[in-house]
Amino acid sequence: MYKLILFDLDGTLAESKQPITSEMATLLTRLLAATRVAIISGGALPQFLSQAVTELPHGANLAHLYLLPTSGAALYAYDNGDWKKIYEERLSEKEAYAIEAAMRAAGAETGLIDFSKPVYGERIEYRGGQVTLSALGQRAPLDEKKAWDPTHTKRSALRKYIAERLPEFSVSIGGATSIDITKHGVDKAYGVRKLCERLGIRESDALYVGDELGAGGNDEAVFKTASQTHAVSGPEDTMRLIESLVAGTTKD
Ligand SMILES: [Mg+2]
Repeated sequence: MYKLILFDLDGTLAESKQPITSEMATLLTRLLAATRVAIISGGALPQFLSQAVTELPHGANLAHLYLLPTSGAALYAYDNGDWKKIYEERLSEKEAYAIEAAMRAAGAETGLIDFSKPVYGERIEYRGGQVTLSALGQRAPLDEKKAWDPTHTKRSALRKYIAERLPEFSVSIGGATSIDITKHGVDKAYGVRKLCERLGIRESDALYVGDELGAGGNDEAVFKTASQTHAVSGPEDTMRLIESLVAGTTKD
């Protein structure tokens, strides 16, 4: 068994912004009984709690669970009944303003986002360690999000525009419609490294599971670490992997 198994959240453990299924919760609970598990995603902590943690059954070994919100810019561990922050690479408000200005300019100049038109909730969200641009708004329906940029073209254009103007930050593609910006060097690879360090395990003894490990995908940064990787097509695929892991039959 791997000493640590890290999962992306949206598209890997759950559908975008949806809670994990009860079957997934049961499998994660079995995995938590066997090894350490981490969840790493662009969302903020409350999103992790509502989408995953509160869905786990009573008695799940939360002492084995680690949460890395905002793409690894922060790490939380369970301690005495509460989620305790281990670190957070916070962006200052001044930095957040500069990032927001670049996001608005990118939307206008690429012609991809018209900020004068209403959408589903806020388009730009400051999450402490990260600022996120969601082209269709934070609460856009899943089918509209999936249809917006199936080839990554729009997100790549937005990412490139912003990255050229903000070289002092890390700019990456987030979810189906989003761009995530963190402090320079802070990404999923940073989160994986920090957690392995804290747990005193070798990166090569960890497994990273994600649905966007391909070029330009939001799990791609993990290849900068020595951690093993396993690509999945969605939550169903992830459940099959966990089943094989807990059964001790995986060939990874
Ligand atoms: Mg994903």
